[in-house]
Amino acid sequence: MSKYDFVKNSNLVIQAKLLRETNMYPFFRPISSPQSDTAVIEGKEVLMFGSNNYLGLNNHPLIKEAAKQAIQKYGTSCTGSRFMNGTLDLHHELENELKDFLGKEAVIIFPTGFQVNTGVLPAMASKGDHVFIDELNHASIIDGCRMSLAQRIKYKHNDIFDLDRKLNRVRNSSGVKLIITDGIFSMDGDIAKLDKIVQVAQKHDAFTFVDCAHAIGVLGKNGAGTASHYGITDQVDLIGGTFSKSMASVGGFVAGNKDIIDYLSHASRSYMFSASLPPSATASVLASLKLIKSDDSYRLKLWDNTQYALRLMREHNLDIGMAETPIIPIYIRDSILTFRVAKKLLDKGIYVNPVVAPGVKEHDALLRFSLTAAHSKEQIEYAISVISEVVKSYIPEEAVCH
Ligand code: PMP
Repeated sequence: MSKYDFVKNSNLVIQAKLLRETNMYPFFRPISSPQSDTAVIEGKEVLMFGSNNYLGLNNHPLIKEAAKQAIQKYGTSCTGSRFMNGTLDLHHELENELKDFLGKEAVIIFPTGFQVNTGVLPAMASKGDHVFIDELNHASIIDGCRMSLAQRIKYKHNDIFDLDRKLNRVRNSSGVKLIITDGIFSMDGDIAKLDKIVQVAQKHDAFTFVDCAHAIGVLGKNGAGTASHYGITDQVDLIGGTFSKSMASVGGFVAGNKDIIDYLSHASRSYMFSASLPPSATASVLASLKLIKSDDSYRLKLWDNTQYALRLMREHNLDIGMAETPIIPIYIRDSILTFRVAKKLLDKGIYVNPVVAPGVKEHDALLRFSLTAAHSKEQIEYAISVISEVVKSYIPEEAVCH
């Protein structure tokens, strides 16, 4: 095989080529506006139902002003990692605010949420240890497990009996046992049964780690996440998450007790050896946090929109499975059809994300419809009626209902 043959023969490249040829390639579309209820995609204004801007803060004047002021004061970069010259007083301020918000003793912030999982998991579990992951956990969790020398054990989605059974199998192991789950599942949009997971963890003396990437700002007191939603913050060992969704910025965090966080700050390689969060991003998270803590109206509006959309979709007989949060999967259950429907919707002025394998299992290919507090009821109603019409034109009615 010559040097580039493996690239040309890659299934991914072949599929991308086919999709481009049939004008259905959905990825990397350039956006030239802020993402709110609408966005300008490839020069055309569309209704935006594909962002993670849950609270609608992405274009908030106070947050933008905070970012500008941070650039004026600190410049555009930290030019180094937290470990060395990359720690700002602003990072400490954010970590302090976050620990109070999350109800934990200590927090460290990472350049991205992805790096939280690839940094924390290898540091927490190594050779002879076991990490238990929900089969629908995010790619960063899977990669974090791959980077750890621990054995990775998958349990069935949100299935506490399966988790218990699998923990039982290693009950005689003296190694660390760590359970990690998404707080809200990123594609299927259901909430982890964290209350039950914690009970099983206590029975087996296992650590618990919840990734609240999609739950921060959405679930719990003032949006403090899934542990807060169940009122079990003190029973969950580690709470991780990202600033790239509700917090209208970029970056990630992990919170826990002082000893674990101190250990992680000296053992998480993605924290120690990667440039720290830029001043503008750090300041925008601080500003978002201030808003979220003082004004629950964004979260209440988001949930009002969510309940409305869930009701309408069920009335339209769309296949939305167990949807219960602002992330609503509309299952199409066939990759090519999913691309087709997404393209048709874009042509009609509605952006949703097509999600196919390996993002989800092939038979779970879906349109990921996500809400923000910035949407109006009229926009939601209009989008769902168009989606319903388009989906039914591709899939016979009897195959659509759940
Ligand atoms: N964890 C989960 C559950 C996610 O859904 C995501 C992003 N989609 C991440 C981590 C990664 O976050 P970030 O975008 O900050 O890297």
